[in-house]
Order: sequence, then C-alpha cells, then structure tokens
Amino acid sequence: MKIVNPATGAVIADIAADNAATVKRKYEAARAGQRRWAKVPIGKRLDAIARFRERIVAMHDALARTLTSEVGKPIRQSKNELNGLLGRIDFFLAESLRALREQRVHADVKQHMDERITHEPLGVIANISAWNYPYFVGSNVFVPALIAGNAVLYKPSEFATLTGLSIAEMLHDAGVPRDVFVPVVGNGATGAALARQPVDGVFFTGSYATGARIAAAASRRMTKVQLELGGKDPVYVCEDVDVKAAAAGIADGAFYNTGQSCCAVERIYVHESIHDAFVSAFVAEVKGFKMGDPMDESTYIGAITRRPQLDLLKKQVADAKKKGAKLLTGGSVVRGKGNWFEPTVFVDVDHSMALMKDESFGPIIGIEAVADDEAAVDLMNDTDYGLTAGVYTTDAKRARRILGQVRSGSVYWNCCDRVSPRLPWSGVGHSGIGLTLSTYGIQAFTRPKAWHLRSP
Ligand code: NAD
Repeated sequence: MKIVNPATGAVIADIAADNAATVKRKYEAARAGQRRWAKVPIGKRLDAIARFRERIVAMHDALARTLTSEVGKPIRQSKNELNGLLGRIDFFLAESLRALREQRVHADVKQHMDERITHEPLGVIANISAWNYPYFVGSNVFVPALIAGNAVLYKPSEFATLTGLSIAEMLHDAGVPRDVFVPVVGNGATGAALARQPVDGVFFTGSYATGARIAAAASRRMTKVQLELGGKDPVYVCEDVDVKAAAAGIADGAFYNTGQSCCAVERIYVHESIHDAFVSAFVAEVKGFKMGDPMDESTYIGAITRRPQLDLLKKQVADAKKKGAKLLTGGSVVRGKGNWFEPTVFVDVDHSMALMKDESFGPIIGIEAVADDEAAVDLMNDTDYGLTAGVYTTDAKRARRILGQVRSGSVYWNCCDRVSPRLPWSGVGHSGIGLTLSTYGIQAFTRPKAWHLRSP
C-alpha cells in the first residue's frame, strides 16, 4: 500500500497491507491476548496507558511531522491534536477507576439480598478509524477499551497508516502486549475483513455510507456496534452579538483542519439585520487565512487529504452557482502538485443546494439570512445529520431555548467545533449511534453484569 503526501503527491512510504488471512490470524491472536489482559489488575493497565502518554510527550514533534506528511494537516494543528490527546488521556487516567468500579445498588438485610453491578470487558473489539483526527478518534476508543480489559484490533484509515503504526509502537513500548493492541493495516477491503471477524464490538468512525454498511454486516451476529459518523453542523448568529468576534470564532470553526472535521461548522444562519456586516467580517477573516506548505508553522489551510474530495467540492460549487448562490471568495481547485482547494464562501444560499444539505468535509461554507429564531431552528433541523449545532447570542435564556429545540448530540453557546473529554460525544440520525468520551464512553467498552447475591 503506497502512502502519498497529499500536499505534494509524493509517495512517502510503501507498506505491506493485511489481507483476509492475516486479519483472521490477528483476530485469533487478540482473542488469546485478551484473556490474559483482562486478568492484569486495572492499576497495571492504567500504568501502561500513563507510559504511553509519556512516549507521546517524548516524541511529540516527530509524531506531528509524520501526521502532517500523510494527511496534509498544518503542522501547528498536528501539534495541537497531540496536545489535546494528552488531555484526553489524563481524563481516562483520572476517571476510569471510578467509572468501572463495582457498584452495590441494593442491600436488603432482612432478605439477605445484595444486588451489584460489575463492568466486564466486552472482549475483542474492532476499532475502525478515520484519518482526519487519527489521534483523537482512535484514542477515544482504544484508550478506554484497553483500560477496561479489552483487546483492540485497530485499523487506522489508509490515509493515516503511519500515525496508526506509531500509535501501536508506542503502546507496545509502554507495555501493552502485541496481541492485545493489534494494528490492522489496509483500505476498506481490509476494514470489511476485520468487521467480518467474530469480534465482541465494532467501534467505527467514518462516513455515513461506510457506517451503514458496517451496521448491516454486524447486525446478523448481534455484535455491539458504535458508529461516529458525519455531520452538517449549523451555527445560528443572533443580532445581539459582537459581529467581528462571532465571525472570527465561526470562521475558525468552519476552516480549522481545512474544514475536514466531523464537527466543523458547515452551515451558517445569520439574523437578517446583521447579515451584511457579519458576511463582510467573515470574508475578511477567511481572506486572512494562510494556505501553503503544511510543514510551515504559519500555515492555517492545509491540503485536502483524499483526492476524490476535490471532485465533491467542485460539484457543490457548481451546483450552488447554478442555483443562484453568490461566490464571495475561493471556489476552485488550486492547480499544481497535491490536493488543494481554496477557502470558499457563498451567500444567497438555500436548502435546494447540496452545499447546505450534504457533508462538504472541506474548506467551503454557505451563509444564509434568516428572519427570526423559529426560521433558524427549522433550518438547523432540516438535515439527516445531528452531530453538533451552535448559537451565538448574548442572551443565555434565548440560547437555551434555541438549543433545546435543536436535534443534535452536542450543542454550543458562543463556541463551536469543540470536543470535551468530560462530555459524551454522540450523534443523532445519520451522525451515528452510541457514544465515546465522558464516563459513559468508558463504560461503553464494558458489559454491565448483574449480580443477585443472597447470603445464607
Ligand atoms: P470512511 O468511511 O471512508 O473510512 C473510515 C474507515 O472505514 C477507514 O479506516 C476505511 O478504511 C474503513 N472502511 C471503508 N470501507 C469499509 C468497509 N466496507 N468495511 C469496513 N471498513 C471500511 O471515512 P473517512 O474518509 O476516513 O472519514 C471521514 C468521515 O468520518 C466524515 O464523514 C467525518 O464526518 C467522519 N468523522 C466522524 C467523527 C465523529 O466523531 N462523529 C470523527 C471524525 C470523522
């Protein structure tokens, strides 16, 4: 399998991919490894994750460079991702004992009856991952899964393979056995071969289309399936905000990671009374973004990781133009080596356009004027997705009222494109099923076992 730098088009590595036979062997090894790992005291499993954290700190800059070279993410953003990862690991290290401890939920002295819940590991899990934030979306699964006593068959995206292999090496060096954290390398066909193994859970991060396929395949085996999928995340800007500050915050939420974030702002609704002022502040912000060599510390817009995404972006631009949208900046593929698309802003958009309905996953956004809160809520909910949604206003009550009516896993007041390890990360509709992060996202890798204990 060739690893290509999306910023230059150069082949940077050639790696042997797994096939159906090696995937099966890896599954069998992990099944045996898990039985031993589950018997390792949880304190020792936590120690291994703490050592993994130390290795990330020690190798921080080299890991950032590897990530940037294979996904085209600006180097500062690669470093930010690694820093954020440390915070997530800290959360799991601090909270897992409490989340996984045995609970006594009832004690009846007269009847000599005791009721308890323990959290048993699921067993062997498949962790099929995306490339856009490989450290985040991977660790949300494998860190709590390993702490809870599972073995993990980890398939990084074919676009983040080198990062996936670095993760495996660091975990192994930290004391997680090779048959407990097992990297599986390859593309969709390898992922499909992995999902066919008789695992005890499939934890997938990626697109709705692939997620639907995985859910269908797993349903006959009654395997636990969690799907963290795409989004078409809206933000609504009320007329009472500081326009410049809101425009700057939302532009960052839309274009950070070159728009290739599941929770990137993908649609903006603005109260009509401030529409023009907001749009001019927003476009000024976007025109200030520096696009260029992802290895340069001052770069903000990097490469488009997957080449086919350029066609999708071109199609959304053409469709929006044809239906009457006005292009204010960008709109084109950048010619030359690698995959590049200009930061793009449209106004005069509506929901007949793919730009406002289908996930773009790139540096492109539409801004639509709305008359009032009711119209904004209707438009925010006019989507099959439901990952995140935000509102910008100085009025806390108004924000609560609006966000209470929005159908999505996470809601934001005066912020966007944000994930916290302390809060559950989940989606509604085509954005997925199940969750990661928070104490729920630790227990997600366990099976609650019910103990009915009558003492003589
Ligand atoms: P993708 O669906 O193309 O691939 C995801 C993973 O699935 C990869 O490892 C791929 O090799 C594998 N795969 C592909 N076909 C498969 C099959 N038939 N069976 C098993 N595995 C298969 O998605 P992507 O391009 O890597 O990621 C982008 C998508 O992920 C976007 O839609 C984005 O919104 C979403 N995403 C969601 C979250 C979230 O937390 N909700 C986070 C990051 C990304």
